[in-house]
Amino acid sequence: MLSEKMLELGRRRSVIREIFSYGQARKAEIGAENVFDFSLGNPSVPAPADVRDTLAALIADTDPAVLHGYTAATGDASVRRAIAEYIQKEHGCAAHPDDLYLTVGAAAALTIAFHAILSGGEEVIAFAPFFPEYKVFVEKAGGKLRVVPCREPAFIPTPDDLRAALNENTAAVIINSPNNPTGAVLREADIRALTDVLREAEARYGHPIYLVADEPYRELVYGDIAVPFLPNYYDNTLVGYSFSKSLSLPGERIGYLLVSPTAGERDALRAAIAGAGRALGFVCAPALFQYMIPACLGKTSDVSIYAANRNRLYEELTAYGFTCVPPDGAFYLFVKAPDGDANAFAEQAKRQELLLVPSDDFGVPGYVRIAYCVTPAMIERALPAFRRLAEEYRLGE
Ligand code: PLP
Repeated sequence: MLSEKMLELGRRRSVIREIFSYGQARKAEIGAENVFDFSLGNPSVPAPADVRDTLAALIADTDPAVLHGYTAATGDASVRRAIAEYIQKEHGCAAHPDDLYLTVGAAAALTIAFHAILSGGEEVIAFAPFFPEYKVFVEKAGGKLRVVPCREPAFIPTPDDLRAALNENTAAVIINSPNNPTGAVLREADIRALTDVLREAEARYGHPIYLVADEPYRELVYGDIAVPFLPNYYDNTLVGYSFSKSLSLPGERIGYLLVSPTAGERDALRAAIAGAGRALGFVCAPALFQYMIPACLGKTSDVSIYAANRNRLYEELTAYGFTCVPPDGAFYLFVKAPDGDANAFAEQAKRQELLLVPSDDFGVPGYVRIAYCVTPAMIERALPAFRRLAEEYRLGE
């Protein structure tokens, strides 16, 4: 007997991947340069030279039995030490190497986190719009996703909305800033207000309510914006971090889960995380990419290309008459469907060879997501198609 749950998950593919597959087929049909695929958050900016140089040096100089061998299940100790020292220096947070568990990307970090903190039937709050996989990860861990809509036009979660959703069954709250799909970035005042509400709720219900910070876009911010480091604001924080976007390495699957050094049940949490990693088979993240980390901490791909894409697209699309959320971070533009129907809008865009993702799977209706981690040349080629789309909706008249 197959698992009904897994069968359903496997058959109901993610909308994003569905559109991406359509794009691959369409490119084979009419030529890659004629399809404007904005579906996937797959960085087009190459990894910085430090990555290639470090990998080349590792391959040249390291005993292959070590380089390609198993590390500790939690990750190599010297790598975890380097990350902990970086976090201490960069964020002023007293992270210990044993607070870190290296993972195959943020996806595994989140899955492990939910398995570690949920024992069955509890609620995890996510603010909509949210990364659709949260529902899969939370439900797989036995929890229930409680969706709290953010308010337009800024899509920043409010303390009142959080307070109204918290209850004695709440085990965790997910914060994803910079945000996929809106590009919204929570400022320090937002974090202080939200964590005050969480502390009140912990006191009221007498149990920990974990803040799960999903941070694959931490370094991707535009302008003079600081992204608060959540363990500095709230003790019971778990940070899921990834090098997928910052170093343009999504296919290499490397990231980590950090337990805040001030978490109430720090030792038990570390143990539960190790147990969850073990039970899920997520032990020993890819060794070569673990060893790459120390030399590349704090480095990023050339983010200025995303900044230029963001400015160009935002300015042109608003000039054509579209309403867009001005993104402060990540590499997504959230655009309002002119007549409110996101699916019809995405279909209409497809006729112009524009591949956009309707927002329904992100937990809100009426928008599409444009992933602008593409080449500037593709954006230039796509602009006339966006203009024609605006004309079809009679925008700007
Ligand atoms: N969280 C968010 C918000 C994302 O956008 C993504 C990937 O796009 C992930 C998590 C998963 O990232 P990773 O590639 O590190 O597993």
